[in-house]
Order: sequence, then C-alpha cells, then structure tokens
Amino acid sequence: MKIAVLSRNRRLYSTRRIIEAAEERGHEVKVIDVLRCYMNIVSRKPSVHLEGEMLEDFDAIIPRIGASVTSYGTSVLRQFEMMGVYTLIESVALSRSRDKLRALQLLSRKGIGLPVTGFANKPGDSKDLVKMVGGAPVVVKLLEGTQGIGVVLAETSKAAESVIEAFMGLKADILVQEFIQEAGGSDIRCLVVGGKVVAAMRRQAPEGEFRSNLHRGGSASLVKITKEERATAVSAAKILGLSVAGVDLLRSDRGPLVMEVNSSPGLEGIESASGKDVAGIIIEHVEKNARPGNTKTRGKG
Ligand code: ADP
Repeated sequence: MKIAVLSRNRRLYSTRRIIEAAEERGHEVKVIDVLRCYMNIVSRKPSVHLEGEMLEDFDAIIPRIGASVTSYGTSVLRQFEMMGVYTLIESVALSRSRDKLRALQLLSRKGIGLPVTGFANKPGDSKDLVKMVGGAPVVVKLLEGTQGIGVVLAETSKAAESVIEAFMGLKADILVQEFIQEAGGSDIRCLVVGGKVVAAMRRQAPEGEFRSNLHRGGSASLVKITKEERATAVSAAKILGLSVAGVDLLRSDRGPLVMEVNSSPGLEGIESASGKDVAGIIIEHVEKNARPGNTKTRGKG
C-alpha cells in the first residue's frame, strides 16, 4: 500500500514507529506536513497539492495531527475524504475529540460514566457553577489545554471562583469538574484500535501532584483493566467515531469515568509500559480497512 502519514515531524517517536511498522510490512510511506499542503476545492475534482505536485494514489492516510494545527489539519484530512481516500482517523472524529466539551456532550448522551462537569463562558455565575458540580474541591480546565497545562485543582470554593474568574477574564472557555479524589493521582490510558483495547497503562502522578501526565513527571506501568473499563473505553472510542483512540479513565467509587479521548495518542509510553507493538497493530488495522470511500462518519457532525 501507499500510505501518507500526516505529521509535521518525522522524528517524533510515534511517527517514527508508524513509519517503521508500515515499512516492515512492505508498504510505501510518505510523511506529509499538512501546513505545507494546499487544496483545490473544485466541483467534483477536489485535490491536495504539495511542492508543485498533486497528492494522489494514496491507499490510506494516517493522521498524526498536533493540537496546534487541528483546524487546518482537519480541512486537509476532509479534502482527502472528499477524494475518496481511506483515512484511519476521520475528520469528523478528529474534530469531535479535539473539542473537550463536544466530546463530553456526545459521551454523556450515550450514558458513558463521566466526572460531573460544568462548562461556562461568561463570568457572573462562578459560585453557582461550582455548586452545580458538587462544590469544592473541583478541577478547572482550559477547554483547549493539553498535557495537563491549564488544569488546576481548586481545593476551596473561594479558590475555585477566583480561578474561574481569572480564566474567564482571559476569555478562555473552561470546564469545571468534580475532583475524583479516590483516583489517587492516577489514571488509566486504554489504547483502542478497531474496537478493541490492545494495550493499557496506569499513569501515576509524582508526589504532591494530581496530574498524572507523563509530560508532568508521571510514571507509567502495566495495568490489568476490568471488564467494565474495557467496555467503557471501547464505547467511548466508538461514540466519537475513532478507530484509534487513547481513552483516559479515572477509577472512581462509581466505576470508570472517561476524562478524555485522544485521537493522536502517543505510542512511546504505552508501548514501553505494555511491551506491545501498538504501531504494528495500527498498521494491521489499516491493511484490513483501507478501501476507497470506507468512511463511517460521512455527513455527520
Ligand atoms: P490534559 O488533556 O491537558 O492532559 P486532563 O483533563 O487529561 O488534561 O487532565 C490532566 C490530568 O489531571 C489527568 O491525567 C488526571 O491525572 C488529572 N485529572 C484531570 N481531571 C481530573 C478530575 N476530575 N479528578 C481527578 N483528577 C483529574
């Protein structure tokens, strides 16, 4: 197969592993920087171009689009879909997962376990907002944050209100969320590929920190997940329309709660914690599913 990996940096671990796994299986791989692509949106003959050449004949697209290029990256991805090219992550699913609120709304509609979450835009009702999610302690999150940046634990209602007002003053959209204390600073990352959890790891925050992000000094270890956790992760990926997803769960007294669903999950932590060849599993999924026009979310929002 001829595979295009949409990534801005071929040296990143996950991109490298995907290229390696594809080449090992005899596929031809081209790494494409989406920001350098330009598109021709012409009736019935949509095309994508790069450095004077038309990008055609790809059997599959593997998007690894960073959060900072979501908007343009999604448009390029959509253009490939319009051309009938199979893409591992569909544009609609990518945009759903990148918008935390939208993702939580879709998951809540289907009854997936979630931390109680409030969303707000304008100041003036921060006290009631904190009350609405059950009162302090609460976690306040920037809607557009990643890697734990913009995730704050407010231990008292007063602190929560100040943080909310500060974020709102910056005109940032925020989530206010029940703090799941019993998770003990750890979360579970389930890697879902093609409707199955193929690897899982537990991330533990360092002493004195509640955020378990590996970028914030968290440590990863192998974990055995429960049936319920497995089912929750698989459903969450399915609801968002993602054939590959990193589903983050918090272990709470009322069962697994989905915190976030990531559509470009990093492979380094999960491959080393689980010892699994996740990149290989992803390529095998592509081999089985890459057919022109095999797009599940077509026309959906
Ligand atoms: P990001 O997308 O920036 O990584 P997350 O929402 O995943 O932000 O939060 C970062 C970390 O903070 C999580 O991995 C988890 O360990 C912790 N955390 C986030 N929300 C909660 C919560 N409601 N209760 C307890 N811990 C939380």
